[in-house]
Amino acid sequence: MTAAPAAFLDRDGVLIEDCGYPHRPEDLKLTPGAAAAVRRMNRGGYRTVIVTNQSGVARGLFTEERMHAFNALLIEALAEQGAVIDAVYACPFHADAVEARYRHPDHPDRKPNPGMLLRAIAEHHLDPARSFIIGDQPTDLEAGRRAGVKGYLFAGGDLDAFVHDTVDL
Ligand SMILES: [Mg+2]
Repeated sequence: MTAAPAAFLDRDGVLIEDCGYPHRPEDLKLTPGAAAAVRRMNRGGYRTVIVTNQSGVARGLFTEERMHAFNALLIEALAEQGAVIDAVYACPFHADAVEARYRHPDHPDRKPNPGMLLRAIAEHHLDPARSFIIGDQPTDLEAGRRAGVKGYLFAGGDLDAFVHDTVDL
């Protein structure tokens, strides 16, 4: 089996508006063009993989269960528009965690570390050389760089227009 190319996608500020630790159903607001961009990646033969730092769990703002439920809502909202997400990786760890089980000085999964990408590459048989990451923070791109994946910095606006104009699919 040939390794597939992947589109690694940051969540907050890329697929959904970043209102500050979004986790409630009412916080779920897709960015303009998000579903169309994911459909474009689906059509292009890319596996779509969300990679998201969720230190709100570590900070005690919401539970890991709440985070998973919110991610499921996001996947559902995209699916309603014909956009398929293939996998979600989320990092709940942070150095300043309230709860000890989420406390880690520099967790390998927390971007800019590449742990989530490296696991996705191994678990889904992805080809980093033909993959890319879209993030709204330099740390997203740094995580990509450390995983051998090129990166595109999304500064807001219409995500599908950005992908169409900027990403070489
Ligand atoms: Mg972000």
